[in-house]
Amino acid sequence: MTLAQVSEATGIAVSQLSLLENGKREAKISTLQKLATCYQASMADLTAEVPSRRGQLEIELERAMNSPLARQRGLPTPRISPRMPMDVLETLVALHRELARTAEEHIATPEEARRANVELRETMKERDNYFAELETAAAGLLRKVGYQRGPVSQHEISAITAHLGFTLHHVSDLPHSTRSVTDLKQMRIYLPQSPGDHDPRSVLLQALGHYVLEHAAPRNYGEFLRQRVETNYLAAALLMPEGTTVEFLRKAKHDKELAVEDLRDRFAVSYESAAHRFTNLATKHLDITLHFQKVHESGIIYKAYENDGVAFPTDHTGAIEGQPVCRFWTSRQVFDVNDKFNSFNQYTDTPTGTYWCSARVESGPSGTFSTSIGIPYVQAKWFRGRDTRARSKSGCPDESCCRRPPRGLAEAWAGHAWPSARAHSHLLAALPPGAFPGVDDTEVYRFLESHSG
Ligand SMILES: [Zn+2]
Repeated sequence: MTLAQVSEATGIAVSQLSLLENGKREAKISTLQKLATCYQASMADLTAEVPSRRGQLEIELERAMNSPLARQRGLPTPRISPRMPMDVLETLVALHRELARTAEEHIATPEEARRANVELRETMKERDNYFAELETAAAGLLRKVGYQRGPVSQHEISAITAHLGFTLHHVSDLPHSTRSVTDLKQMRIYLPQSPGDHDPRSVLLQALGHYVLEHAAPRNYGEFLRQRVETNYLAAALLMPEGTTVEFLRKAKHDKELAVEDLRDRFAVSYESAAHRFTNLATKHLDITLHFQKVHESGIIYKAYENDGVAFPTDHTGAIEGQPVCRFWTSRQVFDVNDKFNSFNQYTDTPTGTYWCSARVESGPSGTFSTSIGIPYVQAKWFRGRDTRARSKSGCPDESCCRRPPRGLAEAWAGHAWPSARAHSHLLAALPPGAFPGVDDTEVYRFLESHSG
């Protein structure tokens, strides 16, 4: 109906109707009654809270046009009037939705990824890398399958899988961008026939972790990282249960024989898993502050954690991943040590104090890495290897420590060298879009489709 027709039917002036229609004036009850009669509707229809589809679109467009995202881009803001055709309204809303979606996807830039890492590491430090709720979840699962103490057997892990209602399927055609795929429709977990350089128990427990912790598809890179930390934590807490592990570590501390290798051997896990698990329990249960590093042979940090004040190299965002570690630190000195069977221990003087550190080198398909644990000097007395004679001095982050070449060398070569850099693509490249960074959804869906028969 045109305004003139409504005016004629109700006796309300066109100018009045226009004001009502544009939301500039509220109607009196008597006016609403007239309109209800005219539209053959009830009063409730006219005053219902749920806006019409058009109303919803108008509200959404209004919000989208005023969002920081649209303002940042200086997008035009047409006046939303009743005369704006419905298809135009729908198109504008669809374009704004698409803009928001792509902005969300591209959020995982290296810059964003670094910030997400910094935030996560802050949380871990605040909690001394101990997550009580995950320990409780792990203990609960273990109790359900009758676990009592000591290392967790393969059989007990199978029992946990069955308890949660999953069946296991080993396949040779797992999508190459994944470590495992979970089919939540048929409650199946697909694992590779040969797990590569990952502990098959960890891969399985991580897959179960997402289910146990009720993770939804991550909305951004920060959430993706947090979920990964949680599932890794839960897997470690299942392989090295808190009670029995703390008992083992307390005895070692009492005997002044603490060593990450012993934890590794006792629970049949990798050195890295053992070192990482040690960071969960050391501060909470042994009153030991510490730091952990995984460093590539090129000297670049892959992972690190500290709550003992050691100064990791950082970029302007506070991120440490991808930064070069001081060449005098244990985590780099260890690469020059020939004994690959035993850990390398060293005291290092740094501007924030002296630390005793223990490091190991391990090689895998993705390269050669050192994994190390460091402890403030006064705590070294609890550890095996405290009697090491190896000492080092680091002045980093002062550039004169190891970043600037010595003068003689610089004089001989400055201006005559043109190296071609090897890019650390996975650390620096823009992260691939999608809910699961780097995972090809099409490939995963095709895989599930082909196995679901
Ligand atoms: Zn240095």
